[in-house]
Amino acid sequence: MSENTVTNWFGDLAATPAVLVEAKSTADIVRILKDPGTYPSPVRAFGSNHSTAPCSAADGGTMIRMKGMNRILNITEDSVTAEAGAILYDVAHALKDKGLQFYVNTEIGNLTMGSACCAGTKDSSMPGEFGQVSSYCTGIKMVLPSGELLEATEAKNPDLLQAVRCSYGTFGIVTEVTFRIRKIQPMEVFHETYTVSDFMERLPELWSRGYALMYYMFLFDELVTIEFRKYNPKAKGKPNTHVWPIRNNLWSVIGPRTCYHTERDIGDKTIRYKIIDAFGGYWRWNLEHIIQSKNTTATDQIIRYPDVSDDSRYTFSLWAFPEETYAKVLPQYTKWVKNYYKTKGYRTNILHVGYRIAKDQNSVLSYSYDGNVMTIDPVSTANPGWKEFLIDYNQWCSGQGGVPLPNQTFGFTYEQGKKALGDRLAAMAAKRREFDPGNRLLNPFFRQFFGEPAKSPAPRAAKA
Ligand SMILES: Cc1cc2nc3c(=O)[nH]c(=O)nc-3n(C[C@H](O)[C@H](O)[C@H](O)COP(=O)(O)OP(=O)(O)OC[C@H]3O[C@@H](n4cnc5c(N)ncnc54)[C@H](O)[C@@H]3O)c2cc1C
Repeated sequence: MSENTVTNWFGDLAATPAVLVEAKSTADIVRILKDPGTYPSPVRAFGSNHSTAPCSAADGGTMIRMKGMNRILNITEDSVTAEAGAILYDVAHALKDKGLQFYVNTEIGNLTMGSACCAGTKDSSMPGEFGQVSSYCTGIKMVLPSGELLEATEAKNPDLLQAVRCSYGTFGIVTEVTFRIRKIQPMEVFHETYTVSDFMERLPELWSRGYALMYYMFLFDELVTIEFRKYNPKAKGKPNTHVWPIRNNLWSVIGPRTCYHTERDIGDKTIRYKIIDAFGGYWRWNLEHIIQSKNTTATDQIIRYPDVSDDSRYTFSLWAFPEETYAKVLPQYTKWVKNYYKTKGYRTNILHVGYRIAKDQNSVLSYSYDGNVMTIDPVSTANPGWKEFLIDYNQWCSGQGGVPLPNQTFGFTYEQGKKALGDRLAAMAAKRREFDPGNRLLNPFFRQFFGEPAKSPAPRAAKA
């Protein structure tokens, strides 16, 4: 590998920038953007590089590592301001020490604040709340392609913030972010298992219970284990401190590691996947019988993955579907994925998960812009056939009216993105051109996403 090879956290996507540089300050970023001779285009910032799509790749260009800018700058009763390279886990724990928490607590603790404010995220929406981290971003500071500084707040520039929340560093490089936060509230969690058909029949009743719904899907056994969460302000006493560490260990270590070794060591596919499906039974048992409490802390859901991934690493993809179509979509997907294994010999080797995420118009490209959505996320150790599977999965999901996420859905086409996002994609493409007329920040990934021609036009003056 070249000296400047940058791989994503999972290790299946590599970029070879001409220059790889670590930013320590806003001044560093200004200097980089103003000097295309030393720092060639495209310039892309990256955080923990946990994305499962090559959205931060800048082959032949400049990649800016943001994690050196990781200070927490200010905490008040209802806001936190941090530099863009600080990770969710660290910020959330600094808040917890003061009795405070984020609204959205994704399990991915390595999520940097810069990515959290301008890229896609998901967690099951708590009742009456959003499930995308950026929706609680109330202010950003950014260096524009011209090197000039821009500050925007929800109060003063709501339209601009709505666009920045899904700009993925194509408007400018984010240096500082403010999020709305709240006091820690006790949180209830428990699990129930249903067959796929029962789950679908009961959807209206499950929605009406008033819980956040995330679910683990064991589709080869047609079983779904639902995680129910809601705040439970009346809970008394000290919060339970063991249920989330057990869940986190199962999800981020024991689960993927067991599946990885089973895939690697058991040559016979039938036996291999029987073992993996049997392990699914152990997983369900733990969720149903151990991961339950009336009083936990949302911060404890957040996982700090190792900086360098090991044999417990996993990857996944995601499409979101309008929830009113889900009762049809999931059973059809279950058939499709089983038939895929029969006819093509490939199946994902961990499980699937899904999230229910509330209607959210806080970002222009929100995948739940038009209404509540439920997702289908295959999870894998990237066993042979995974990437080819994802291309077929993309086609299937797009055909069913799904919406992809640029940083979490590998390999979707421009046409699939356009079909899902329609005029909103065109509006974001136009806005991006205003901010970056010289395409200083536009890598091939976003060139395709926004439907820009493959060859860049001659640079023009950037917007101040
Ligand atoms: C094991 C695993 C578990 C995961 N679990 C979840 C989960 O529960 N929920 C969820 O939502 N996601 C999850 N993800 C996906 C991941 O969180 C997102 O892809 C997220 O964007 C990663 O954050 P990051 O800091 O690594 O961003 P990166 O991958 O480094 O960057 C994401 C995008 O943001 C841009 N960017 C980053 N920093 C800046 C900046 N300062 N200024 C401008 N642009 C910037 C990059 O160019 C890129 O386009 C998971 C991924 C893995 C591998």
